[in-house]
Amino acid sequence: MLENYEKILQRISRVSGLEKEEIERRVEAKRAKLSGLISKEGAAQVIAAELGISFDNEKLKINELLPGMRKVNVIGKVINLFPVRTFIRNEKEGKVANLVIADETSNIRVVLWDMHYIELIEKKEIVEGKVIEILNAGMRDNEIHLGSFSELKLSNEILDNVNTEKVVKEKNIVDFKTADNVDVRAFIVQVFEPRFFNVCLECKKKLIQEGGDFICAEHGKVAPEKRALINIVLDDGTETIRSVLFHERLHSLGLTELEDTEKISNQKQELLGKEMIFSGNVRINKFFNNPEFIVDEVKEINLDELVGKLEKI
Ligand SMILES: [Zn+2]
Repeated sequence: MLENYEKILQRISRVSGLEKEEIERRVEAKRAKLSGLISKEGAAQVIAAELGISFDNEKLKINELLPGMRKVNVIGKVINLFPVRTFIRNEKEGKVANLVIADETSNIRVVLWDMHYIELIEKKEIVEGKVIEILNAGMRDNEIHLGSFSELKLSNEILDNVNTEKVVKEKNIVDFKTADNVDVRAFIVQVFEPRFFNVCLECKKKLIQEGGDFICAEHGKVAPEKRALINIVLDDGTETIRSVLFHERLHSLGLTELEDTEKISNQKQELLGKEMIFSGNVRINKFFNNPEFIVDEVKEINLDELVGKLEKI
């Protein structure tokens, strides 16, 4: 039994890249939470499952990859290859390549920093349509990053019917992870006052106000364009999240009278308790260091569509 436990620990450690001590700590925490009703081995298996580790086949499917994993093995077909970008860091030239790979379960962005592998792209050995195998990579948010200990090679595996749909996951707020593109059906439980800021007409970047002048870091003194944003709090029953809606989205929420205190107050009131579908991207708010949902689409709930979905289940 103990031997088994030891093996499971080793495998979790090998596949996830987490230290054995850390896994043991999680196992003990899990057992404590379950008042010791579960064996060490059982608890280790729960931890493995939580990390998305399958013991039958350590090569993971793309939809099994989780942020924080540090030794990821995966096979996928290159469905999108972006131009290699060059940058200068510490006076040295570096390169970075981005591609998207897909298997039958999902697709994911892969980021390459190693010149050796970037060369494979430059030499056109890796092109769209090729199947590649990635070993020993790490997950940074929802991307696979290859470091110097990672491996990348062409694979002979044939992947038909790969999932090329942009991964917009329908998720509960409690499961939101940084960099997720998500759809969520949620209630608006709080609406804050609109905030205004000025952007440069040309580059749309935020302007700094100096006296009566508006300064763009790139374009100098410019004429400002006034923009608005509103913070709202969404609640889907699993968790709440602070969300941001910019200018263009405000109208789809029915917020049109941004500068009229009384009218906007009424419009805000109307929104409270309304359930809608929100699409957007999960980011970390740098100032508060907590997750924030940048909403880029708001939809009314289409009851017909919803019924259609329920009938399919
Ligand atoms: Zn500008």
